[in-house]
Amino acid sequence: MAGERQADCLFCKIVAGEVPATVVRETETTLAFRDINPQAPTHVLVIPKVHYPDAATLAVAEPQIAADILRESAEVAAEDKTAGSGYRIIFNTGSGAGQTVFHAHAHVLGGRGFNWPPG
Ligand code: IMP
Repeated sequence: MAGERQADCLFCKIVAGEVPATVVRETETTLAFRDINPQAPTHVLVIPKVHYPDAATLAVAEPQIAADILRESAEVAAEDKTAGSGYRIIFNTGSGAGQTVFHAHAHVLGGRGFNWPPG
């Protein structure tokens, strides 16, 4: 059923505490933890505790939780003091865009300069 835990999902296992993660923030609906392969001084993943394969699917099914993800992403940036110099919130959606974990997540990147267009 939509939103239910998937047995083979890495991020569902992190939510369940079965795979360790460096958690920086937690709410009733979201979990934020440091990316295992950071691409910037701040690189935090903000995920819904419920399982949806990508951010767009989450937004249609659970718009309030999608909003929670955005709010928490901004809180992460503020706590890591990257908000002043700017930060990025990225939702890779689909393997062609680089998505490798099919549980919705925002990448919050900050603490360095960024180029446009992105790679
Ligand atoms: P995607 O490529 O947009 O799907 O992002 C998945 C992210 O999850 C990548 O940046 C990975 O480095 C990160 N990642 C994979 N496994 C773990 C883990 O066990 N803990 C934290 N981050 C992870």
